[in-house]
Amino acid sequence: MSIDVRREPGSRHQDTIGQGGIRLPVAGLTPMTTLDYPGHLACVVFLQGCPLRCGYCHNPQMLPSRRGEREEWAKILEFLESRRGLLDGVVFSGGEPTMHAELGTAMRDAKALGFKVGLHTAGVYPKRLEKLLSWLDWVGFDVKGHADNFERITGRSGIWKRHAQSLALLLDSGIDLECRTTVHWRDFDIKAVERLAHNLSDYGVEHYALQLARHDQCLNADYQQPITNGPTRQMLERLVTRLKPQFSSLVLRDA
Ligand code: SF4
Repeated sequence: MSIDVRREPGSRHQDTIGQGGIRLPVAGLTPMTTLDYPGHLACVVFLQGCPLRCGYCHNPQMLPSRRGEREEWAKILEFLESRRGLLDGVVFSGGEPTMHAELGTAMRDAKALGFKVGLHTAGVYPKRLEKLLSWLDWVGFDVKGHADNFERITGRSGIWKRHAQSLALLLDSGIDLECRTTVHWRDFDIKAVERLAHNLSDYGVEHYALQLARHDQCLNADYQQPITNGPTRQMLERLVTRLKPQFSSLVLRDA
């Protein structure tokens, strides 16, 4: 479930406008989830804007960025204050949340209220990510594919190295980390999934999730078409069984 947190005319929240605070473009809030921060009861704050263009993206409305209004984060803070002691953590998601320079301040605010802080990111801004490390308790790191595949899948060039740099930063930091790859059979065959999993395991990734892409509302209409000759779910399940010994945890889930 998500709720719209943008300004409502006449709401008491207007009182906070002009009293300082940060500007983040909040696109939505999931008030409570057990799925987005493993082992924790958390809320998820979605921030508008993403520089990538994955063909399977099923949130195309999230992609254009915008400058947020101060009341948007203030309203989230109000919500967080009401959930102290009831939720363990706050996850910042998107879009690509690290594209927003004021994210670190939002994380600091969440920490000050006693919440753990999680982040969903594809790691395309390593310098910004580095500045966020001290606030982070957990990261869900979106591994789109390896090297050239990463750039083909995301529709952007020159980004793979930055993504790899971010993964190195996170592994060095010791922050709890789950790498996840969304698998659409237009982007992968079963061998490519296996190769990527081996690469990540060799690199030191311990927690990995394969997420089967949805076919509805994809950014690229071709991704909405059924793949008639793609691997079956059973084939992927067998691969997961084979790969499991290489990770502390490896899960298959629907995206
Ligand atoms: S699926 Fe790709 S394009 Fe869509 S929000 Fe995530 S990273 Fe951005």
